[in-house]
Amino acid sequence: MQDISLGKIVEARVALAGKVRRTPVNASDSLSARIGAPVLLKLEHQQMTGSFKLRGATNAIQRLSPEERARGVVGVSTGNHGRGLAHAARLTGTACAVCMSRLVPSNKVDAIRALGADVRIIGNSQDDAAVEADRLVAEVGMTMVPPFDHPDIIAGQGTIGMEIVEDVPDVETVIVPLSGGGLIAGMARAIKGLNPAIRVIGVTMENGAAMHESLLAGHLVDVAEVPSLADSLGGGIGPENHYTMAMVRDLVDQRVLVSESEIADAVRHAYNEERQVIEGGAAVGIAALLSGKVSDTGRTVLVLSGANINMDLHRRIINNETDGPGAEA
Ligand SMILES: *Cc1c(COP(=O)(O)O)cnc(C)c1O
Repeated sequence: MQDISLGKIVEARVALAGKVRRTPVNASDSLSARIGAPVLLKLEHQQMTGSFKLRGATNAIQRLSPEERARGVVGVSTGNHGRGLAHAARLTGTACAVCMSRLVPSNKVDAIRALGADVRIIGNSQDDAAVEADRLVAEVGMTMVPPFDHPDIIAGQGTIGMEIVEDVPDVETVIVPLSGGGLIAGMARAIKGLNPAIRVIGVTMENGAAMHESLLAGHLVDVAEVPSLADSLGGGIGPENHYTMAMVRDLVDQRVLVSESEIADAVRHAYNEERQVIEGGAAVGIAALLSGKVSDTGRTVLVLSGANINMDLHRRIINNETDGPGAEA
C-alpha cells in the first residue's frame, strides 16, 4: 500500500502558510440541537477560490523545481480543482492549462478563465478531458497536477485535519465529503496521526459513488457519470489509483451515501439555519446528519468543502423549486 506520512502534511502546512486561509470552525446550534451532541462546522467553503482544492494545488506547485514551473502545469477538473490550480499558478507566475468535460457548470468554467488559465473543454467525461491533458504533458512538457491521487495533493488537503484537531481537541467524529478521496485521505492521515481514536466518516452521493463501489468490489469500478447536485463529487477514481483508494480503505471508519433530495435539504439547511451558501458537494455531511444516516457521533466536526454553486440553482433549491438537476418542480 502506498501511503503518505504525517510529516508530509506538516511540511505542507509550512508550504501553505500565508498562501491559503486558515478557515474558522463555528458551532452549529441547530445541528447540535438536532443530534443532541455538539456539532461544529469547518467553514472551508470560505477558502479563497471557494473550495479546499486550493490547498493541494498550492502545495503541489510550491514543490515543483524552477524548470518544471517554467514549463507550466495542467489539470483535469470538475471545476474546483481547476480554479484552485489556476489561482495557485497565477500567484507564482506559472502557466496553467485546465481540461474539463462539458458537464462542468458554466459558473465554474468562467471563474477559471477569469484567473487567466487556458481552459479546454473536451468530451463528456473526465476521462476524455484527461486525454488532452496527457497530450499537453507529452508535447509541451507541462506537469500534470492531478485532483486527488497524488502525495502533494493529499498532504495539502490533510492540513485541514490538523487545523480541526488543533481547534477542537476533544472532537470525536469528523465527517468529510468523499469523491476521489484526496480530501478524506489526507485529513484522515493527519487526524489519526494526531489522535487515532477520532472517527472519520466519508459521505458521497448515491448518483455515481465511484470510491464506494470500488471499495465494495475490491478493485476499480467505473460508474456512469450522471448529473448530481453534488457536481464536484462526480468523476471516477481511476484509470489507475495509487494512493487514495488504499488510504480510504485503511483510514476511513464508515462510508455513507446520500440522495439528491437529502443534499437539497442540506443546502437549504445551511442557508436558512447557518446563513451559509454552500454547493451540493459540500452539503453531504449535513445531509448525512439530518437524514439520520450517521448517528452517535459525539462531538462532531463537519467539513463544508466548497461554495461554488451556480446562484440560480441555489435560489431554486432554497425556494423548493428543485430537488436535483434532473428533477425540476
Ligand atoms: C473535490 C471536492 C470534494 C471531494 O474531494 P476528493 O478529494 O475528490 O474526495 C468535495 N467537495 C468539494 C466542494 C470539492 O470540490
